[in-house]
Amino acid sequence: MLYKHVLVAVDLIDECRWVADHAMALAKALNARLTLLHVVEPLAMAYGGDVPMDLSMLQQQQFEQARERMQLFAGDYGLPEDQLQIAFGHPRQEIHRVASEQDCDLIVVGSHGRHGLALLLGSTANDVLHGAPCDVIAVRLGKKK
Ligand code: AMP
Repeated sequence: MLYKHVLVAVDLIDECRWVADHAMALAKALNARLTLLHVVEPLAMAYGGDVPMDLSMLQQQQFEQARERMQLFAGDYGLPEDQLQIAFGHPRQEIHRVASEQDCDLIVVGSHGRHGLALLLGSTANDVLHGAPCDVIAVRLGKKK
């Protein structure tokens, strides 16, 4: 079998359905297992790691909301609970960690094909590619169908 376990990383915004559709079709064609992963980014990280207040309550809410959104999202694809993962931290690190821990041999992410200034700011797809523990497919987003 070419790939046995596909990990698809979703940021849970609308366009990531396109990424999930591709990953789902690929996993089906390869008869591979599929795991859906969303990473909740710590608020302190989003604000530069230097926020002088207790964010634990907000973070708990953030996590609960992510869980609900993930269940709704996965429900549309008929994915059971044991194929869903929510992690907390930096997307690159968490995607790599889950891929290693779960013996995934393919990671699927979305890519905006940035250029110019936006490219300098970096992208999650680029980040994930560097040091990935397995193959990575970047599904092009924002293109006309
Ligand atoms: P970005 O370059 O940050 O717009 O993200 C591109 C792709 O990276 C998305 O389509 C997802 O596949 C993945 N990604 C970004 N953020 C997350 C996240 N918080 N959790 C899981 N995957 C993510």
